Amino acid sequence: MIKDKNYINIYKWMIEDLNLSGTDVIVYAMIYGFKDKEFKGTVSYIQQWTGVSKNTLYKVLKSLVDKGLLTKREIYKKGNKFCTYKIKETDTNFIKQYVLGKYSKTYTIEQMLEYKRFSNKEINYIKTLKYKKFLNTPYWKIISKHIKDNADNHCALCNSTKQLNVHHRTYEHHGDELHHINDIVCICKQCHQKVHNIKK
Ligand SMILES: [Zn+2]
Ligand SMILES: [Zn+2]
Repeated sequence: MIKDKNYINIYKWMIEDLNLSGTDVIVYAMIYGFKDKEFKGTVSYIQQWTGVSKNTLYKVLKSLVDKGLLTKREIYKKGNKFCTYKIKETDTNFIKQYVLGKYSKTYTIEQMLEYKRFSNKEINYIKTLKYKKFLNTPYWKIISKHIKDNADNHCALCNSTKQLNVHHRTYEHHGDELHHINDIVCICKQCHQKVHNIKK
């Protein structure tokens, strides 16, 4: 049953980037709004919103799975088989949410790691960002916070707790820092300047 306070958020990127329209975009947006971005319920709820037959609804779900936008899982409960459909994060989704933070949702490093190993497309996207812009991405903020937390907010070189910076020991994996956390260290501003002066 649809309650008075129920609503669906249809984002512009669902239409523009995923090329969805009509019933497809409504169904996608509904599942996107469910807990864990997963649809486990009965189809009648979605039917109430979309006004389509069960048959059509299954066709829509199948086409979203075929397009790589949903993952279908088969579950057995008390001997009965039923299916769940979960949103599959796309590269575009990922870049906009995690890297650009366009949809103003921030994630923990665990959630980012859960996502998957970055594709080259994603790594290259991060690499092409101007460095100043990169430093302002939610992606980098999440990583640098994690590095500082892990270091218990102490400089790795002199143990100071003041003016802490996060320094790349190497830029070899720039764009995929997430999977090369050891490339990054927490050091204080003074030590940071020294490190860079020696390198020059
Ligand atoms: Zn540095
Ligand atoms: Zn220091």
